[in-house]
Amino acid sequence: MNPIPYGRQSVTDEDIKAVTETLKSDYLTQGPKIAEFEQAFARYIGSEYAVAVSNGTAALHLSALALGVEKGQKVITTPITFAASANCVRYCGGEVVFADIDPDTYLLDIASVQMLLEASPKGTYHGIIPVDFAGRAVDMQAFKALADEYGLWLIEDACHAPGGFFIDKQNNKYNCGNSEFADLGIFSFHPVKHIAAGEGGMITTNNPTLYKKLLELRTHGITRDTNQFENSRSFANGGQGEDWPGWYMEMQSLGYNYRLTDFQAALGISQLQRADDGLNRRRQIAATYEDSFKDKPFIMGQSGVVEGHAYHLYVVEVENRLGLYNYLREHRIYTQIHYIPCHLMPYYKQFGWKEGDFPFAENYYKQCISLPMYPTLTEEEQEFVISKILSFYN
Ligand SMILES: *Cc1c(COP(=O)(O)O)cnc(C)c1O
Repeated sequence: MNPIPYGRQSVTDEDIKAVTETLKSDYLTQGPKIAEFEQAFARYIGSEYAVAVSNGTAALHLSALALGVEKGQKVITTPITFAASANCVRYCGGEVVFADIDPDTYLLDIASVQMLLEASPKGTYHGIIPVDFAGRAVDMQAFKALADEYGLWLIEDACHAPGGFFIDKQNNKYNCGNSEFADLGIFSFHPVKHIAAGEGGMITTNNPTLYKKLLELRTHGITRDTNQFENSRSFANGGQGEDWPGWYMEMQSLGYNYRLTDFQAALGISQLQRADDGLNRRRQIAATYEDSFKDKPFIMGQSGVVEGHAYHLYVVEVENRLGLYNYLREHRIYTQIHYIPCHLMPYYKQFGWKEGDFPFAENYYKQCISLPMYPTLTEEEQEFVISKILSFYN
């Protein structure tokens, strides 16, 4: 049996062909593949606009900037996420306020967020960043109602959930990151995520003003839109002629170079075409895990079978997690822990966060383990993983 990781990309001959063709084209960056990827991705997710950027962290940073996060502003997120969900607030000088998770869904607990909001005067908080952790869809409609009541913006960190969806009580379906309720949705194309581009990220939105701002911030804060120019036409053309000259552009805000390259976009486009197949396979794998572990006394919780779950991760909560982790490693099954609670990272502890702040998140951390979950995991490999877990406990 080959080593089995917890997650793994798949790159096909078609993917390689798509990248090679782009490498031979006129554009390695700032070419036509970017808009093509953005349009295809927006269509897949069901948002009006999409902005491709260099990685998911850049997507979060630009989003926080576009929403105007600045020094001292408080933003709420979950401790059970990749640190970037919180870090984007710090990049802009804002203050991260964590709230506990719901121990059943592992997602940011809306009741805890509401308690925070109720405990402070209106205007104390500026935004909320819920995360579709492991691929399970957040109820963004509920967060939107709360956000509206307190005048907050919403970023949905959907890095784990392209293709995932939420079903409400009226049986309406909302795709993760479609920005129907959030201001902005975030995706990553790191190889361990559903769609691999090497590195890469995407911001989705239905808001044309935010969309324009993001495009500008992605490329140094530069605009070439003549309607937006602030300097005079005669300054621009050097006092010669009437029109805006062809070279003229203005840097109007402090942006970055957070561009994606065209060959990465080509890989993303090619991978996107297989996204639904990958998702179906992930759901099969989840069903097999759930079936194998239900009623097992050593399993205290698991991702389970949930409609719309995108299964970036399959999490089980177990007794003797360290023992299981090491035992599986001996059999070359490389599980992972998602996540060490963000508020207990030394960087965040300096702001006063401490053990005991979020009992559900901290208890979850003591017993969670992410099992192998990726489309090319074979049935035989999954059976091997399951049999080793069962044999460890028997
Ligand atoms: C991967 C990830 C990110 C960051 O994406 P990168 O492309 O690695 O920068 C942000 N949030 C979550 C939840 C992620 O899983």
